[in-house]
Amino acid sequence: MLLYIHVPFCRSKCLYCAFFSQVYTPELEQSYFQALAKEIRIRGDQAGGKEISSIYLGGGTPTLLSALLLTKIIDLAASHFSLAPELEFTVEANPEDIKDKDYPSALKDLGVNRLSLGVQSLDDEVLARLGRRHTADQAMRAAVLVREAGLDNLSLDLIWGLPGQTLEGWMEDLETALILDPKHVSCYGLTLEPDTPLARMNEAGQTLLPEDHVQSRMYLLGGQFLESKGLMQYEVSNFARQGFICMHNAGYWEGEEFLGLGPSAVSTVKGIRWKNPGKIQDYSELAESSFKNMELEELDGRKLANERIMLCLRTTKGLKLSDYQESTGEDFLDRFRDQVNALCKNKLAVLSKGRLSLTKTGMLVSNSIIERFIS
Ligand code: SF4
Repeated sequence: MLLYIHVPFCRSKCLYCAFFSQVYTPELEQSYFQALAKEIRIRGDQAGGKEISSIYLGGGTPTLLSALLLTKIIDLAASHFSLAPELEFTVEANPEDIKDKDYPSALKDLGVNRLSLGVQSLDDEVLARLGRRHTADQAMRAAVLVREAGLDNLSLDLIWGLPGQTLEGWMEDLETALILDPKHVSCYGLTLEPDTPLARMNEAGQTLLPEDHVQSRMYLLGGQFLESKGLMQYEVSNFARQGFICMHNAGYWEGEEFLGLGPSAVSTVKGIRWKNPGKIQDYSELAESSFKNMELEELDGRKLANERIMLCLRTTKGLKLSDYQESTGEDFLDRFRDQVNALCKNKLAVLSKGRLSLTKTGMLVSNSIIERFIS
């Protein structure tokens, strides 16, 4: 089972971000910790010794929490869950929080063996347009400090398609990022989430996003470049050196059970899904009632099959057609033969060894392809 712990704090809101987070205050942190500690105890007991293969501390900004508080959280998790000896333990970090070697060293001592750094861009003007709180230099320095602390399994998050970004600028970002020798790179295309300041600025004509054909080139050339340097694509937005695929995300895509703790976290265990409330106050109230009376969603075969299609078609392994048949009782090709033929004919997908997978060009338009298979 995978364990996700959500840390819901940020220093301020980035202009493109639609994730749930609240501005940090010591009082909120206190309420958060009390409620989370209770959830760890309750869910840990319910898990009944089921082994946890991966912990992922995400946010928000986990690195806003002190090493001492993170230690308390992880100690609690270790005493209520059975952690695998080969545990993958990832922490998401923001560059401005890593000012010296002490903090990443403390994370390493805590058992963290993978750090995902939110670099986003290595162009200061672009970073400022996103409302990020760090500069390119800070990101580079943070990455060096992480490596010096002995956390070699470093992943960098980068975004393409940003306001004011050029194809050349994007390729330079990738080249510079590789100087840091990351084992894993996530390259996300910017999504203009409704109700974010950036989306509103775009509607008002105040941003200059790269044109669609430039964005396509950013995706395809960026991917080609990373692969030429040994970081192989394994999902629409993810590239890794051999042996450094993110096991947490891979488990999620492969349909493993996952337990999400903290505000807004989602869990799926034994075919049942639930979601915690986002606001810390609501989350604390739920903790006071020992997480009773939560809305539970039963996932039937059709829902699970839709999810498998959505997640698997984003990976280079693709969708195993026999898995689809197992969960729905239907033959995938009988149902979608025309769509599959059209995709293969247009070199957007490949059908091989019982699996349907998207080509690089197909991945560029994965969302619209996946929609055709969701019922
Ligand atoms: S730091 Fe991350 S989670 Fe927080 S507002 Fe920025 S993008 Fe969103």
